Amino acid sequence: MNYDVIIVGAGLAGCSAAIQLADRGWNVLLLEQQKYPVHKLCGEFLSVEVIENFANLGILDTVQKVGAHPIQNALLTTTTGETFEHQLPGVALGLSRYQLDLMLFERAESVGAICQDGTVVRDISGDFKTGFKVSTNSGEFTSRMVLAAHGKRSPLDTQLDRPFARRKSPWVAFKAHCDGLRLPGMIELHAFPGGYCGLSMIETGQVNLCWIGHETILNGSDDRNLPNALYDNPVLRDRLAHMTINPAVKHRLSQISFELKGNFDGDICMIGDTAGMITPLCGDGMAMALRTAEIAVPMVSDYLQGTLSAPRFKANYRDTWQREFKLRLQLGRLMHSAFIQPQVAQVSVSICRSFPAIGHWLIQNTRGSASPVQSNHAFSV
Ligand SMILES: Cc1cc2nc3c(=O)[nH]c(=O)nc-3n(C[C@H](O)[C@H](O)[C@H](O)COP(=O)(O)OP(=O)(O)OC[C@H]3O[C@@H](n4cnc5c(N)ncnc54)[C@H](O)[C@@H]3O)c2cc1C
Repeated sequence: MNYDVIIVGAGLAGCSAAIQLADRGWNVLLLEQQKYPVHKLCGEFLSVEVIENFANLGILDTVQKVGAHPIQNALLTTTTGETFEHQLPGVALGLSRYQLDLMLFERAESVGAICQDGTVVRDISGDFKTGFKVSTNSGEFTSRMVLAAHGKRSPLDTQLDRPFARRKSPWVAFKAHCDGLRLPGMIELHAFPGGYCGLSMIETGQVNLCWIGHETILNGSDDRNLPNALYDNPVLRDRLAHMTINPAVKHRLSQISFELKGNFDGDICMIGDTAGMITPLCGDGMAMALRTAEIAVPMVSDYLQGTLSAPRFKANYRDTWQREFKLRLQLGRLMHSAFIQPQVAQVSVSICRSFPAIGHWLIQNTRGSASPVQSNHAFSV
């Protein structure tokens, strides 16, 4: 075998797994289809708990150096003008994926993983007994283990014939970096009929705008890729009046699925969004992706060392994943469905305003706790 582990996809989950496995001395190949650095579709809001992950992965200093924007407050608004503002349980960050993914990729390289961008994985075959073969646009590679971290949806899912890839999903999303508006220290989530839009500042001082909505809202859109439905929310309408979209950084994506997709395909182990993605309303997908890698790595390491059998590895990873994420994903889907319906959103937000404890409970139960590390890093605000 060429490698102990091949990791497909160098997003949050893939890079995190590569860093941790290479750190433990395993021979790791990390394959990414895009050429880094690259802009990716995302709200670019990093929830409070990722600071500990970044400390563990050795990138916290770099995150500080590039000037990630500290965020301490959240604002929810609805089409009827209902609002709920609350303080986050710590400091969250606004940081572009352009910077973050590059930082993680370079860190993986610096701790000894072989990192290859511009490499599209076309197929994966094999199993624990025979070993794996990974076919790409630049040749074939073999390994004892494959971690699939190729994100929410990829042609590779169709190639692997994963059931969710056969089903259509009506969710469409758009992101852009915008000038003209400043929202220091704030993440804003504005509901509109059929979707919601997040606004928060990133390290450039620009605001990242990211909306997700049902495909039917696309029937009326302006030339800025902003469907008319967004203007139904009075607070969002006011924000949009001050914003100019940077044409160099805008992306649209369709077929976004929030299904549980399965932790294994044969013996291929799925981490990050490849196993299941929490709805963007929770703003916790990146923390979850990092956490799945953190769960998988010690088990992968034990398997490679021969102290954990293949069936035990699969059962342990599946059980731990389901215990930690299944309910959170379901709750996230429920909140997503409520927030996109104007009347339900209005009632939910006014309940949260009258009984803030309910809002805090929902926020807490759609996210994990900070990872158990020895560091006492605090992000300077
Ligand atoms: C609209 C929207 C807004 C969001 N906003 C936020 C937010 O504000 N905060 C938050 O925490 N989460 C947010 N999320 C969720 C977050 O983006 C994901 O949960 C997170 O990126 C998952 O990381 P990952 O590593 O699993 O996948 P990704 O980050 O998607 O990485 C997968 C990588 O695999 C690569 N890849 C795919 N196919 C192949 C292939 N065949 N060969 C090689 N490489 C391949 C891709 O190019 C990509 O780099 C949002 C999601 C959406 C849809």
